Amino acid sequence: MPKIVIIGAGIVGCSLADELTERGYYDVTVIEKGKLWNPGGSTSHAPGVVFQTNGSRTMAQFARQTVEKLYNLHHNGENCFLKVGSLEIATTRERLAELYRRAGFGMSVGINARVISPDEALKLNSLLAPNKVLGALYVPDDGIARAKLADEVMGKRSTSLGAKFIAECEVLAIDQSDGRVTGVQTTLGSFPADIIVCCAGIWGPKIGAMVGMSMAIQPLAHQLCYTAPMPELASYKGEAELPVLRHQGSDLYFRQRGQSLAVGWYGHRPLPVKAEDILSCELAQVMPSQMPFTPEDWRGAMEHAIEVIPALKDVGIAESMNGLFSFTVDNMPLMGEWSGLKGFWVAEAVWITHGCGVARAMAEWIVDGHPLLAVHECDVNRFEPHQLGALHIEERGTQNYIEVYDLLHPLQPMESPRPLRTTGFYQRQQELGGFFLEASGYERAQWFEANAALLARYTIPPRDEWSSKFWSPIVGAESCAVREGVGLFDITTLKRMEVIGRGALEFLERLTTGNLRKKAGSITYCLLLNEKAGILSDITVMRRGEQDFFIGVNSNIDINYLKQSAPDTVHVRDITAGTIGLGLFGPKSRELAQSLTYDDLDNKALGYFKLKHTYLGHVPVMLARLSYVGELGYEIYTTADLALKLWDTLWKAGKNYGLIAAGRGAFNSMRLEKGYRSYGTDMTSEHNPHEAGLSFAVRKGEGYKGAEAFNKLNPNEMSKRLVCLVLENPEHVVLGKEPVLHQGKTVGYVTSAYFGHTIGKQLAYAWVPAELSAQGISLTIRYFNHDYPAIVGTDPQYDPQMTRLKS
Ligand SMILES: Cc1cc2nc3c(=O)[nH]c(=O)nc-3n(C[C@H](O)[C@H](O)[C@H](O)COP(=O)(O)OP(=O)(O)OC[C@H]3O[C@@H](n4cnc5c(N)ncnc54)[C@H](O)[C@@H]3O)c2cc1C
Repeated sequence: MPKIVIIGAGIVGCSLADELTERGYYDVTVIEKGKLWNPGGSTSHAPGVVFQTNGSRTMAQFARQTVEKLYNLHHNGENCFLKVGSLEIATTRERLAELYRRAGFGMSVGINARVISPDEALKLNSLLAPNKVLGALYVPDDGIARAKLADEVMGKRSTSLGAKFIAECEVLAIDQSDGRVTGVQTTLGSFPADIIVCCAGIWGPKIGAMVGMSMAIQPLAHQLCYTAPMPELASYKGEAELPVLRHQGSDLYFRQRGQSLAVGWYGHRPLPVKAEDILSCELAQVMPSQMPFTPEDWRGAMEHAIEVIPALKDVGIAESMNGLFSFTVDNMPLMGEWSGLKGFWVAEAVWITHGCGVARAMAEWIVDGHPLLAVHECDVNRFEPHQLGALHIEERGTQNYIEVYDLLHPLQPMESPRPLRTTGFYQRQQELGGFFLEASGYERAQWFEANAALLARYTIPPRDEWSSKFWSPIVGAESCAVREGVGLFDITTLKRMEVIGRGALEFLERLTTGNLRKKAGSITYCLLLNEKAGILSDITVMRRGEQDFFIGVNSNIDINYLKQSAPDTVHVRDITAGTIGLGLFGPKSRELAQSLTYDDLDNKALGYFKLKHTYLGHVPVMLARLSYVGELGYEIYTTADLALKLWDTLWKAGKNYGLIAAGRGAFNSMRLEKGYRSYGTDMTSEHNPHEAGLSFAVRKGEGYKGAEAFNKLNPNEMSKRLVCLVLENPEHVVLGKEPVLHQGKTVGYVTSAYFGHTIGKQLAYAWVPAELSAQGISLTIRYFNHDYPAIVGTDPQYDPQMTRLKS
């Protein structure tokens, strides 16, 4: 059994000790520099307001698990969670619409969430201003986490099973040997460890620095006040009965504390703090995570608060603080074992709301090798190098603080710092009027204004106001034009790596589901599975030589995973930044490419899923005969220095073939018509290949990770399936993440959705119970407050015979 040291006894550290000991991992030592059970971290002062609804399924599920766990924990006979419910109120039409969207997020993960009328909201909280509220999102199971009490209960429970809590003991250094942790040095001496889990909250960056890790979190101060007792609350005797309340339109939230209200405010200027500047327990006035209140930043808070709760007008403030907690560059926590040091794990930037769910996933990960929920969005190894710079962390962390309650469109990119990464084609794409969004820090065009003239050729259905943000009908025109002719897509932003060296084939065979024993020049689409046959990623393996593979992957998580698993003789290298990729897709792509090379590109010479090294004009390239948009075509790769030359070469020759530049919007619409899944959106580690419709990518037999579990699966006995829903009315647009209903009951959720311009139908891929996955079954998709009828259709909708791709 491994020796585990947890740094920090906040909600995350205490929950983790509890989860580990419950799983039989008893050799757990929690080291805490403060006093138990009020050690002075963020958990010690947070009001514990819990709103479970979240645009991320994983985060919403972490929240559900936290509520469930805390509700069932008791401290001196009292629940550690007060299920008082929550109200998120809207005072504008826009915000009211958003509440319906949020209700959909909640419903799709089984949270009881519904939008209620102003009268109903007033009945639940009589403090609300009549005539001000247009509606509210009501979640009866939300409420207040009594986190300090819960910490004590979980701490004592885990202690009774063997865990040790060492208080007033500060971790000063991490010991390591041969790339592994061996222990921690503290103010009370050394503690050996095989696994160290950093649950140090706002001090995370300090602990990270001890092992040379840049932790992508930014501590920020956040203002919170408690009012003096209010006459309107005089009749309340307990801690809280009123639902917790949020008014995102004014950056405010509220909770009852006996006869007073806590008012939290995100509307002030961001107040970033460096982890190393946080005061010690001895020097801090109240506790280290509380900075002195800055009244000048509170200005405006009460005026906004009074607008929705008039009773606050004449109430004084009894307590106030600038409390510290962490924000990240992408608003998601950091979880998992850091790839830079074996045995060094982190669970950081976690709200109380998600604390117990995160801890459960961490314990499963440590004990079983993988968590049950999909955690790729939270994986500590997900970041690009540019995301780990101090300036970037501060700027993005700060921006995320500002936007925490903002109404954000799913495609909305961060405003700054941009442009950050640009591909070698950026200049040309700008000249063509590219409309850029951000992908992995890269500027990536959604469509090109230069293609506006194509709109005269095609009829593109209109969209509603919300779905037409970051969209143009040109997206549709581009996809139609590519299906008829040929288009150039910048695919540089998709990650690629190489795996080279003695044993590379055997190594890849062990980790992937693909049949890779094919001649050099072959391409294989396959999967990475975990031990339970959950899908970790889908990858495209291109065999360049005997022991030389070029692999298209989904993220840094894949690259780190392969790096960690590779034997010494095999080199795994991220080559994304040093190379560029173009997709030349469409029925005229072969003629165009052929016009630029003496090598034979005929179907026999370069068949489907084959690759060739050749020259296009003067540019040495690898041509890979595949296309994610379901047309004849090539992925073309070369080194970054040749980007412009390659673009210009193709562009010039393309004049004879009607070549257009096409953006990511067209790419997504076309891939959905062809039924091509996108990892992280359409399937995750929560799904197996049969459920996701990807069993064709799994080789027969054994010898790869996940084989044992996969071979035990009966494809006819799946509980859920990914299906292609076709909306009955092609003008009904959905965007993804909407709940799917059957006879009024939520049964699933949409993953990707787009209008298929070739087939003239609105498509939505969705997870539904297997018994509702047969073609022809009628379901409903809830988009805001509209119910759109849809039918389970064929998958894929476009070219199921693959004639376009293989011709
Ligand atoms: C004003 C305010 C209001 C908030 N309101 C809410 C809310 O309503 N709902 C919600 O969900 N979240 C809320 N949050 C966020 C939430 O409080 C935090 O995200 C959460 O408590 C973090 O828990 P943690 O266990 O990761 O960290 P912490 O609770 O900070 O625990 C980390 C522990 O690590 C210890 N430690 C650090 N370094 C060392 C070391 N070197 N050696 C030993 N021990 C060390 C610290 O002493 C500390 O006790 C709020 C935050 C603030 C500031």
